[in-house]
Amino acid sequence: MSEEYPYAQRFGVVRGMPERGRPREEILAELAVMAREEDAAWEGGRVSGTMYAGDHAHYRFLTEAFGRFAHASALQRDLCPSATRFEGEVIAMALDLMHAGAVTDAEPVGMLTTGGTGSILHALLAYREDARARRGITTPNIVKPETGHPAFDKASHLFGIECRTVPVDPATTLVRPQDMAAAIDASTIALVGSAGNYPYGTIDPIAELGALAQERGIGLHVDACLGGFILPFAEELGYAVPAFDLRIPGVTSISADTHKYGYALKGSSLVLFRDRSLRNSQYFHVAGWSGGKYMSPGMEGSRSVGLLAATWAAMVSLGRDGYRRHAAEILGTADRLMAAVTSHPELRLMGSPVFCFSFTSDVFDVYHVNDCMKARGWRFNGQQYPNAIHMAVTRPQTQPGVVEAFATDLAEAVAYARAEQAAGRPATSGAIYGGVAGGLTSEVEDFMLMVMAGILDSQMALPDMDER
Ligand SMILES: *Cc1c(COP(=O)(O)O)cnc(C)c1O
Repeated sequence: MSEEYPYAQRFGVVRGMPERGRPREEILAELAVMAREEDAAWEGGRVSGTMYAGDHAHYRFLTEAFGRFAHASALQRDLCPSATRFEGEVIAMALDLMHAGAVTDAEPVGMLTTGGTGSILHALLAYREDARARRGITTPNIVKPETGHPAFDKASHLFGIECRTVPVDPATTLVRPQDMAAAIDASTIALVGSAGNYPYGTIDPIAELGALAQERGIGLHVDACLGGFILPFAEELGYAVPAFDLRIPGVTSISADTHKYGYALKGSSLVLFRDRSLRNSQYFHVAGWSGGKYMSPGMEGSRSVGLLAATWAAMVSLGRDGYRRHAAEILGTADRLMAAVTSHPELRLMGSPVFCFSFTSDVFDVYHVNDCMKARGWRFNGQQYPNAIHMAVTRPQTQPGVVEAFATDLAEAVAYARAEQAAGRPATSGAIYGGVAGGLTSEVEDFMLMVMAGILDSQMALPDMDER
């Protein structure tokens, strides 16, 4: 079968609820086989992003913390005051990292969500509710640089907000404040800036955007989902990182993913607000329900306390010192990887990134490079407009030998790309966030729907195979 369904043949396909359960040991053995084989793909350090810690000892520790509370519901606080402790302390640590202490004119607060998208959804919902209540805005819009994450488009779609997209300066990959200003009108509720953005890892001019937001009396959300837990340490380590956090007066909210460079388990992120009133504007409660008075701070109802415990455990086990140490290794590795890229005159780095970078080529289709690197076990994310290769440097790349292997393979890939281009052959990689395989055709949307159906529906449609 295709590489998307490698288990159908080996383990069979469950097509309905089995009448009889299977022994636990047998199930665990099957899971162990799948996990071992899938981990092997990134353990060597050839995968961009995704496995930010990539450290099995750390994962075992988090899993033990998770396991102690996995079954507990964060909705039932009387049964688990621990959830209140974990959540409150995680928020306190994140606020400290984002310099909440510098805020004197407001009351900084935060909330935990299940991912970067969740954090962005909550921020936009808060801006919408707050703008409706305070300014009577009923047809809200936000203004984001084109490099801003699709979660802003998604939130806008879900919440009836217009998402205005502003092109970036191709030379720097950064948005120009005057272009953002031109897109603002009386119904604008917030601006968006990224620190750093996903495509290029570069940091928008947050100080200027903050001044603009203040001048117009609107919010500024800083998307630090990617950079939130590494850029503060890059700054401490002396890298040229502009301030992007609550020290900037116009910054009214920040998203930061603990499940990326926070080295927590997947399913955890933070959204911080400069002022309590903005966060509280999006709380939801139903006082008159027959099931009792209902309230939940965010989009979710029941949540596992395990994720809160694991996030807390990750943060208190590392501390500033641990994060700084990991950041130093990652940033040093990123410098060396970028040096390998810029040693080839055919390749061009996009903007001035620090920990996550992209490169393109003005000489050949850079996807030829991706094709060749892919055959050598590298997995980057393909980008478009222009075609570019994206590498978020994580701890697995800091292992000995990875930078050297990258340099060697890249040199071969550049030669391969030159030859393919000269022969007039098209590249085979495509630009899909998250790395699902396949090239884009002119029927882009049909193709994207087909990919999603392939993920959720195809397992049941797989042809019959030998059951074990
Ligand atoms: C990852 C990311 C997000 C979205 O986060 P999810 O955790 O995938 O929902 C948003 N913005 C940036 C810059 C990111 O890198």
